[in-house]
Amino acid sequence: MTKKMLQFINLSKQTPKKRDTFKRKDDFHEIYNEYINEKAKEQSSRCSQCGVPFCQIHCPLSNNIPDWLKLTAEGRLKEAYEISQSTNNMPEVCGRICPQDRLCEGNCVIEQSGHGTVTIGSIEKYITDTAWEKGWVKPHVIKKEIKQSVGIIGAGPAGMACAEELRKSGYQITVYDKYDRPGGLLIYGIPNFKLEKSIVERRTNLLKDSGIKFIQNFEVGKNCSLKELKKKHDAVLIATGVYKAREIDILGNQLKNIFPAMQFLTASNRKGLGDKVKLFDDGTLNAEGKNVVVIGGGDTAMDCVRTAVRQKAKSVKCLYRRDRENMPGSVREVSNAEEEGVEFVWLTSPNKFLGEEKVSGIEVNKMQLGEADSSGRRKPEIKLNSDFKIKADIVIKSLGFNPENIPKLFKAEELSVSRWGTIKIDLQTMQTNLDGIFAAGDIVRGASLVVWAIRDGRDAASQIQKYLQKNQKKINEEEAA
Ligand SMILES: Cc1cc2nc3c(=O)[nH]c(=O)nc-3n(C[C@H](O)[C@H](O)[C@H](O)COP(=O)(O)OP(=O)(O)OC[C@H]3O[C@@H](n4cnc5c(N)ncnc54)[C@H](O)[C@@H]3O)c2cc1C
Ligand code: SF4
Repeated sequence: MTKKMLQFINLSKQTPKKRDTFKRKDDFHEIYNEYINEKAKEQSSRCSQCGVPFCQIHCPLSNNIPDWLKLTAEGRLKEAYEISQSTNNMPEVCGRICPQDRLCEGNCVIEQSGHGTVTIGSIEKYITDTAWEKGWVKPHVIKKEIKQSVGIIGAGPAGMACAEELRKSGYQITVYDKYDRPGGLLIYGIPNFKLEKSIVERRTNLLKDSGIKFIQNFEVGKNCSLKELKKKHDAVLIATGVYKAREIDILGNQLKNIFPAMQFLTASNRKGLGDKVKLFDDGTLNAEGKNVVVIGGGDTAMDCVRTAVRQKAKSVKCLYRRDRENMPGSVREVSNAEEEGVEFVWLTSPNKFLGEEKVSGIEVNKMQLGEADSSGRRKPEIKLNSDFKIKADIVIKSLGFNPENIPKLFKAEELSVSRWGTIKIDLQTMQTNLDGIFAAGDIVRGASLVVWAIRDGRDAASQIQKYLQKNQKKINEEEAA
């Protein structure tokens, strides 16, 4: 056991109070940080190469996991990388942040037989990080550029995967994004301790070097309408993600120091990237020395509590209205947060925020689980006369996200959306009800996962290509006639 591991085990036994003495950020046990060749080989060789690859079936990208595990076990890393990258545009990202316990690893036959999963995600990360180190990852060289162009709205994983696939085929691609950096939630949502920003920047640079044009600080709806953008390109992909935070309608919501999760996480990510962030620098959005309460039980809530711990908060509590078994977040994320000293207050729901000008606490109700609802989950109900108070200097609301009103924002009222506001597409062609306008990622699925956004981006690319080829054929026939 290494000195660092021993140090971590000792630290994780300490109470949250003692953990205030943390001096360095890397005192934390960051997942998958150390993954050496011997370990990758040893883990890969545990794969039984079972006849039915449940891991592959449960990977949204149908990654050929058994093959790249076999090659890794044999020390043939370059071939393992070639296979892994053939189905995934960002294997090093997925290896780091996929909730593997719900996907590939959760369905590993060895895990099912009680012997602990093969650590597929870590190996995927290891293979691709090695490929970058060795210089095997290269920009695409386009032999013959095609005249047709595609405009992609949104530089998140869905937009980037689609851009890369279409560029490989020779199309001219422009990606428009309203933020100053490409990456979407990979850059401003997911914290650095789960996904280092340099990893995302390395990918975007590769796309730029492949000839994909990125236009930042360009907001469709403000800088141009959807119709105007379509005039510039032969096809358009909408991959704008979902950003409207779900609200909590209780007394005191207007008090200072109550923030939506994305505001807290973006500030922290910007600081990590070296930006000046006024509200962080003046202490408002910095959790250091404060009692922090996060409301919500999903993965975003876990990112908030773990970020607050790293900012050296005095205490970090997570309020969730159901119990541990019914939490939407990944089990692994909850255990990580617990290990780091986060206190989970299960079966509690906020009743009102307390304080004069700034929040000073929350009055909460105890909950109990009643009958199952139509989704099969037991409904939380308030326990009568059970209210109590929790101290809070900062409250972070993490109750999920809804789509923005895209038809209105894009000045395209005719664009069809579902009753939840997600964009409706034909599931076969990935086209919206408007000719040549496609959509992919969270804006179609609702808040989901990076790996699904990549899958959607790849599928959209192949459908856009079909559409463009058909159009080109028509033009050629008309010209020939
Ligand atoms: C805090 C947080 C943590 C997460 N952690 C994980 C995790 O650990 N693992 C995991 O798999 N998933 C995680 N997710 C979910 C994952 O990040 C998303 O499912 C994924 O990023 C969706 O990709 P996307 O390309 O559809 O959208 P996004 O990543 O949201 O990208 C959309 C892009 O569109 C741009 N845009 C929006 N509107 C406009 C406009 N009008 N004009 C121009 N550009 C526009 C935005 O600026 C953004 O860059 C997390 C999400 C959050 C919020
Ligand atoms: S992409 Fe995600 S689900 Fe698929 S193999 Fe990699 S870590 Fe597992």
